[in-house]
Amino acid sequence: MTTRPGWITDEVLRDLVSRVPSTAGGTWKLTEVYTGDVLVELPQSTPADIEAAYARAREAQREWASWPIEKRLKVFKKAHSLLIDNAERTADLIQVESGKARRMAIEETCDPPMVISHYLTRAAKLLAPVKRGGPVPVMSTSTEIRQPKGVVGIIAPWNFPFATGLSDAVPALMAGNGIVLKPDNKTALSPLWGVSLLEQAGLPKGLFQVVCGEGPDVGPTLIDQANYVMFTGSTATGRAIGERAGRNLIGCCLELGGKNPMIVLDDVDVDEWVQGTLFGVFGNTGQICMHIERIYLPDSRYDELRAAFVKATEALRIGAAYDFGPELGSLVSVDHMHRVASHVEDAVAKGATVVTGGKPRPDLGPAFFEPTILEGVTTDMVCGVTETFGPVVALHRYRTVDEAVDLANDTDYGLNASVWSSDLKRAEAVARRIEAGNVNVNDALATAYASKGTPSGGVKQSGVGARHGDQGLLKYTDVQNLAVLKKQVMAPRPGQPYEDYVKGMLSGLKMMRRTRIR
Ligand code: NAD
Repeated sequence: MTTRPGWITDEVLRDLVSRVPSTAGGTWKLTEVYTGDVLVELPQSTPADIEAAYARAREAQREWASWPIEKRLKVFKKAHSLLIDNAERTADLIQVESGKARRMAIEETCDPPMVISHYLTRAAKLLAPVKRGGPVPVMSTSTEIRQPKGVVGIIAPWNFPFATGLSDAVPALMAGNGIVLKPDNKTALSPLWGVSLLEQAGLPKGLFQVVCGEGPDVGPTLIDQANYVMFTGSTATGRAIGERAGRNLIGCCLELGGKNPMIVLDDVDVDEWVQGTLFGVFGNTGQICMHIERIYLPDSRYDELRAAFVKATEALRIGAAYDFGPELGSLVSVDHMHRVASHVEDAVAKGATVVTGGKPRPDLGPAFFEPTILEGVTTDMVCGVTETFGPVVALHRYRTVDEAVDLANDTDYGLNASVWSSDLKRAEAVARRIEAGNVNVNDALATAYASKGTPSGGVKQSGVGARHGDQGLLKYTDVQNLAVLKKQVMAPRPGQPYEDYVKGMLSGLKMMRRTRIR
């Protein structure tokens, strides 16, 4: 029997969840995924608790926004070290609540420090006022000033609870905002722990609030109180959140699901491809928004590539352990395991073949499911068109690259894609034809996601907006156009006939273009 890490005592758990404001919302049973045992009663926030959390965050935000940027960034320099020094403990909490393999949990702990590193080098520049020319050269100026939005509501999913809870908050906080985060009930521990580390690093108390509750219960208040909403989750929920944000006329960023394709060109190196694809398909037990669920293999090498991938899949070590042994962990919950199983059952009932896997593994834990490869998946099957979000992938044959690109694009989603070839130019040319916000060449997903300097988001039904890159911080700001006219020159002088004023204005316009004065 797997025992949870010893330092996660009942007292530690109670202390962590005591951060959640809850006056009359009752509790929710948060369980250890590997065993199904209840770990702690998670307090649930009422709409009034959420309003109070926003009020506290707003009060702290006014003070925080008045700090010089260098002083705010100092907190994150310290937080960067603290987060890395505590990576093992963070991974313990992530594992306990999500059931993922330790290898994946430790990788997840690296995301917030990577985001912090990136924005430590960019934030001051992005937030500095930019002086631009006004409409009348010399006589006027316009300055672009970045103001924080206020308090940002973040709604996070369970698949990367620590990363999505903290990493999206980092640029918002650097820009001078406060945060109210709602993690998924199943995975509230690691974000609560993360906030405690940020406070140890000097983040003012009250600025980063964490509220808990079932989405439909707390979502409306959470959005109605926010100045901006950052949402990561399913496309269906994203649509509801976007609608409400739209009604409130506030901005939102929606990072949603995918049905991500991989195209393998006929000159691929088989060993490298298998290695990268195992992670791309089965990493985090297939619960990565950017993971690959459809693989298109060239007809000329289908049998060879299929055989190598199946052999490597069958060799994967799967199990429940708080050490680096297993390559694959559990799914997040029994409910989710049933959902994944139902996709496989539906496919098989409609004519697909299970090449390997396809079954739950109750012998390992309540929510384990085998790494699964399917063939013969078509678009009339649920898993042919809808995100499965589990360790399940379909292999397809293609004859021409044009056909492969058409098949890859035949989806409502557009989050991530992958192209493999020994010829990088050839692969890049194919990559540019794929309708996806991220495309990885000779990798499945990590290269794009870890490139923190480039915006990363979905197109089509996979999202609106992006995280990372300059826009990943600027989206949390409003622009104030501070325009100064030094002397009143944009109207006729007293007594000047309007015709003369217009002539002067038009010739001035011509001169401005010729002299390139702006
Ligand atoms: P989900 O949409 O069910 O839930 C996500 C969050 O939204 C949870 O905190 C949930 O409690 C909350 N929620 C649910 N209904 C709500 C409502 N009506 N109002 C407000 N909040 C509500 O998604 P999930 O099943 O937790 O997560 C898996 C999904 O997330 C997958 O589709 C995956 O692809 C997607 N995802 C996307 C990205 C990305 O960056 N694009 C990253 C991770 C996960």
